[in-house]
Amino acid sequence: MCSEASVPLIMSSPLPQTDSHVELTLLAGGSFTATANFLHAGAAATPFTMFNWAFHISHPSGRQIVWDVGNTSNPDDYTPWVRQHMFPLGPFAPPEPIEQQIKRRTGVPPEGVDTVIFSHAHWDHCRPIRALFPRATGYFGPGTAEFCGAGHFSATGEELADVPWDGNFFHPEHRTESWEALRGPWKRFGPFERAMDFLGDGTMWVIQAPGHMGGNLACAVRIEGGEWVLLASDCCHSRGLLEGKYDIATWCNPDGSQGALHVDIPAAKDTMAKLRVLRGMGVHLALAHDVSWVEEGTDPVLMGLLDQDLKEWVEEGLKTGRLP
Ligand SMILES: [Zn+2]
Repeated sequence: MCSEASVPLIMSSPLPQTDSHVELTLLAGGSFTATANFLHAGAAATPFTMFNWAFHISHPSGRQIVWDVGNTSNPDDYTPWVRQHMFPLGPFAPPEPIEQQIKRRTGVPPEGVDTVIFSHAHWDHCRPIRALFPRATGYFGPGTAEFCGAGHFSATGEELADVPWDGNFFHPEHRTESWEALRGPWKRFGPFERAMDFLGDGTMWVIQAPGHMGGNLACAVRIEGGEWVLLASDCCHSRGLLEGKYDIATWCNPDGSQGALHVDIPAAKDTMAKLRVLRGMGVHLALAHDVSWVEEGTDPVLMGLLDQDLKEWVEEGLKTGRLP
């Protein structure tokens, strides 16, 4: 008889009912070069193109929201730590700056964007927005600032080389960015216990999704036709991990500590289990770094978000290296 003790029981509730929807636009958020051994336990150090998706969400009320801002190849957009440790990986800007993609595809100019929600504070999702979207307020998940501390500025404003977090957001005196932590109220969304009905009409739920780093978020949006898409960002880094084909990679840091892409692996696994529950309920999962659905082409809802430029961008990147 098979033991069920290792299978966590996940409570879920039906998805909220609403007749409204948002317009969801998929955006190329740049890319960088990663190696498979940082994602999948036991994998070789095979290089591949780590794509990076971002999104624009437009609501009938006129609200214009950006979900993550992706990469640029401009060193000035990043902290000294990112420049030193991450720039050897690229990062490669998208073929068209993200604000221009939004303008071209939706007609919304940069100053029309009122909100930027960061799924989390890592460099490939988050960078200063004051010049990019001058009227926008940034939002992070609860606990982000506590996790990141003051960021890469010292008390005197001098740049610290060993802190990845951007003091333009998190330093009490030297911050340049206008942002807030999301405050809820938090309600259940399917299997997730804490989600915020961000626009008040049930079309967009910003979800606390623990595991990757402090304050990590996902976002469920209801699009035209009534389908739900989950912008799952870094809750999970590949389809192989989501489907249990691989385990989460860990490694030994130079200081002897254990490294992993998630700060809390049990919590990340619990979040991934909840993603699987949502997928079982018919929700379409769009992870920030996954292009397997483009290669397979079998999900008509996600494929409906692609245009020719995005398809070509993915094809080009896959030529440079694909996740084994
Ligand atoms: Zn990421």
